[in-house]
Amino acid sequence: MTPSLTRRQEIIGLLRRQEWTFDDLRHQLAVKVSTLEDDLTHIRRSVKVDRERLRVRSAVCADCGFRLSSTALHPPGRCPECRSGNLDGPWLAITKL
Ligand SMILES: [Zn+2]
Repeated sequence: MTPSLTRRQEIIGLLRRQEWTFDDLRHQLAVKVSTLEDDLTHIRRSVKVDRERLRVRSAVCADCGFRLSSTALHPPGRCPECRSGNLDGPWLAITKL
């Protein structure tokens, strides 16, 4: 088993238990943004085999409450309404279909 496989399985386990923001998950695992994006792209495909899906709840602006339409895993960090950089989320989780 390769180290990257082990880490992806760890991520799947974490996301089955609770919702995580991208940054919390990244800090938990101590990996780079690009590494986690790559892992999540693979996980999104692989969990379908178990009839699960990677759910992304889009980010919300902490200042004006605007919910971003983007469900990108790691969207740009500014509110399109008020330009605040104070965004919460997006939140990721693995749920049963
Ligand atoms: Zn805003």
